[in-house]
Amino acid sequence: MKENIHPKYYPDAKVTCSCGRVFTVGSTLPELRTELCSACHPFYTGQEKLVDTERRVEKFEKKMAKAKASATSQPKKKSGDKSAKDSSDQTPRTLRDMLKQAKESSS
Ligand SMILES: [Zn+2]
Repeated sequence: MKENIHPKYYPDAKVTCSCGRVFTVGSTLPELRTELCSACHPFYTGQEKLVDTERRVEKFEKKMAKAKASATSQPKKKSGDKSAKDSSDQTPRTLRDMLKQAKESSS
């Protein structure tokens, strides 16, 4: 080994996981902290667990709740005039409707 170019090696560096497990590995750092280890990673446990360090899941759920709330209050008007339109004009809206109409007219 060439001298003075290698970092100090710690043969039993202490690794602390956020799940509470502590184990040792060889490392150039004396102490390490991790969020996942083989004791708590979903791949090994087989259980679903979301690793959400930036609270993204919480933010998304908040957003969804907000969207749901606004969706239940607004579309009453929309669905109202949509049904009125449906009853008045018979032009096909979707490809399925178009095919259905074509079938009906041919037979
Ligand atoms: Zn862990």
